[in-house]
Amino acid sequence: MNQQRRVAMVSGGSRGIGRAVALELARDGYDVSFCYRSDEQAAGELEKSLTEIGARMLAVRADVVDPEAVRSWVSRTESALGPIDLVVNSAGITRDKPLLMMTDDEWHSVLDANLDGVYNVCRAAVFGMMKRKSGSIINISSVSGVYGNPTQTNYSASKAGIIGFSRALAKEVGRYQIRVNAVAPGFIDTDMTSGLSDKAKQNALAQIPLGRLGRAEEVAGLVSYLASDRAAYITAAVLQIDGGITI
Ligand code: NAD
Repeated sequence: MNQQRRVAMVSGGSRGIGRAVALELARDGYDVSFCYRSDEQAAGELEKSLTEIGARMLAVRADVVDPEAVRSWVSRTESALGPIDLVVNSAGITRDKPLLMMTDDEWHSVLDANLDGVYNVCRAAVFGMMKRKSGSIINISSVSGVYGNPTQTNYSASKAGIIGFSRALAKEVGRYQIRVNAVAPGFIDTDMTSGLSDKAKQNALAQIPLGRLGRAEEVAGLVSYLASDRAAYITAAVLQIDGGITI
């Protein structure tokens, strides 16, 4: 086993920001274990790209809402690749509606995937990091969690929850030399935003001083920096990457 390579886990790795993060980390020299919910084809394509970069990798079909599936993903990662140095939680969903029209299911499914998912992955991975007295956790929140966004009470609550969770955990595990940070992207051009109406996109663009959506690779660059030793003194932070959006 190559002792120089570090090991990263990325949830929601098959698409969008998670996929860009997995590729960036592989280029940084990480071996990468990613989980995905259902898209076998996208997962297969990412496997191929990671292998071409030269990373060892593991792709596991696991729903982050299911604690047992997440525990199994963590233990399979440790068996296949070694101790986990970095966890990036990118799995997430939206179910946008004005509150009065929101169903209980739309509320709970977003909280389950976005917030319970982060809890499940961190809960399963952090003990190994504590034993080794090192590690880094990066949770993908959103500007919606910082400022709130209309029609996104469920999503904004889940993403604000991630910020509180990350800061609390950072304070709990700092003495084990584990850093925990949140990244709060603005509008990023992925499948998540591709379904927005032209009007919603125009409204968003009007609020972005840089005048364009962000790219998944730009978020991956920030995650790469936060994971690196250059960010060794950054913890409990919420870093926005949003083109200056004011929502
Ligand atoms: P995306 O829809 O392109 O990808 C989301 C990924 O998460 C997919 O691979 C999906 O399979 C996975 N996923 C969803 N639920 C899951 C579950 N229960 N278990 C396992 N995997 C699951 O979206 P994206 O834009 O890449 O978003 C990634 C993260 O960034 C999300 O947490 C999202 O909330 C956050 N974010 C995105 C934007 C944006 O504008 N795109 C802005 C702010 C924050």
